[in-house]
Amino acid sequence: MSRRILVVLSVLPLILAGCKKSSTLAKLDDKSVPAASASATAATPTPPPAVDRSAKVIVLCYHRFEDNPHDSLAIAPADFRAQMKELKDNGIEVVSLKDMLAWRRGEKSIPPKSAVITIDDGYVSGYAVAWPILKEFGYPFTMFIYTNYVGAGGKSMSWAQLEQMRDAGVDIESHTVSHHDLRHAPKGQEYNAWLHNEVYGSKDILEQKLGVKIVAFAFPYGTHNELVRKTALEAGYQALFTVYGQHMGIDAPADQLGRYAVESMHPDVFKAAVNFGNNDGVAPGVEAAQLASAAMVTQPMNEERIPNTRPVIKANLASMGEVEPNSVEMRVSGFGLVPAKYDPQTKLVSYEFTQNLVPKTYTVILSAKVKGRKMETRWNFTVDPSAPAAGKQAATQGT
Ligand SMILES: [Zn+2]
Repeated sequence: MSRRILVVLSVLPLILAGCKKSSTLAKLDDKSVPAASASATAATPTPPPAVDRSAKVIVLCYHRFEDNPHDSLAIAPADFRAQMKELKDNGIEVVSLKDMLAWRRGEKSIPPKSAVITIDDGYVSGYAVAWPILKEFGYPFTMFIYTNYVGAGGKSMSWAQLEQMRDAGVDIESHTVSHHDLRHAPKGQEYNAWLHNEVYGSKDILEQKLGVKIVAFAFPYGTHNELVRKTALEAGYQALFTVYGQHMGIDAPADQLGRYAVESMHPDVFKAAVNFGNNDGVAPGVEAAQLASAAMVTQPMNEERIPNTRPVIKANLASMGEVEPNSVEMRVSGFGLVPAKYDPQTKLVSYEFTQNLVPKTYTVILSAKVKGRKMETRWNFTVDPSAPAAGKQAATQGT
């Protein structure tokens, strides 16, 4: 999916992305080949590793782990353990974020169906609850930390706990300083200077405090814009993550890598994540028909509250596969079938209301035929005149 489409949609709420540089490879090679033997073996250089360019990777994003979860950042430990097992049962292999980046650089292969596990913000339940479960499975994972929260008390982790995780090989990466939406500075702050500190400052603090190299950045709420992405790449991050979950190929753009935000209240997200489609050896069951829902880029995004009473509804159908153009239908609760337009070039379907919507929650149901089979996805949004207006030029993603 092109970046332009994501920008146009300016929608989904959670995630990050990645890019790559290969300076470390050369260094490793220098060290591993003694000078004396280098010339003798020069005629038969080590062949480059066979990298599976057709592999696909999903990135899962979690936040808190607690019993009786009742918000969209929490997952019950039992559900989390079941999901970790399901990955295994589905032949999905968990790889580290750094292995995923090495694969993207062509330095290392990953299994055909791979998953990266990430945990955001720095809640202590990541340390106390998730980590032991991940150890049971032997899964590597990444902690995306926003530095103001470390040692903040309450449910936050301490620096000592982060050091302990670092020593055990847990990957730690940046999730800004303040966890503010990066598209807008807080009141009274100059945007560019503030953004610079969020992007550079968080990296620097983590690197100084923990003595690590930070290579990845997760946008808070998955929201970003062109300047945010540019600033983060300039800061040296190799991978920027949003929360627009997708099955990513080796060429997925580094500045908008999608993650599935997983929690207990929306089990469909995990279902969509572990469904790698029809040609991956997994039986193409009925779930395939739901593949798009959690992963799809929509506007407004799922569960969004918007102040605009005449919104444009948009969705990108790229994740549905080869959609039959004339089969695309959009329904809106209270309206029925609406005359939405579908553009097979961009795979965007859109509809602009011609009358004001009364404040309440609306469900959008989108259906289309793919290879003769009807697929359907649905999401909802709420018109609420008191909701804050979203940034105009912003591109966001999320689940
Ligand atoms: Zn976060």
